[in-house]
Amino acid sequence: MADDCIFCRILAGEIPSYAVAESDRAYAFADINPATRGHTLVIPRTHASDIHDIAQADLAACALLAQDVAARAVQRLGAAGVNLLNSAGASAWQTVFHFHIHVIPRYSGDPLRLPWTPAPGDPGEIAAAASQLRG
Ligand code: AMP
Ligand code: ZN
Repeated sequence: MADDCIFCRILAGEIPSYAVAESDRAYAFADINPATRGHTLVIPRTHASDIHDIAQADLAACALLAQDVAARAVQRLGAAGVNLLNSAGASAWQTVFHFHIHVIPRYSGDPLRLPWTPAPGDPGEIAAAASQLRG
């Protein structure tokens, strides 16, 4: 447990949460500021700050539990679709520094919109970035 981590405190039962699902390595609970009905967070039971820090087995467990929650959103809440979102770093909008996957059920006509406007990129720059990432 990390000091002053709100999600570790939830896991320890020190702060209440609305449980949704769980596994031996991961826990899913309701987001208190839901973007849509059923918005759920999936977290590892072992503290890790973000995608760069989390152990592979915990990441796999979170992905599997997120898949389970996504299926529940469709089957039990009637969601028409689901977004999975993870943020790493304040620049990427992360506000709680215990790794989490947002599972956001989507409904026809819900108010959520893409945070960017897709527009064609410069092909040379796309290729250069891909080359840098490839190494
Ligand atoms: P992020 O901004 O990606 O780091 O997401 C953090 C999320 O945690 C936000 O959507 C918050 O609404 C949510 N959150 C913060 N505190 C709690 C809490 N005590 N119980 C449930 N969700 C929380
Ligand atoms: Zn934590």
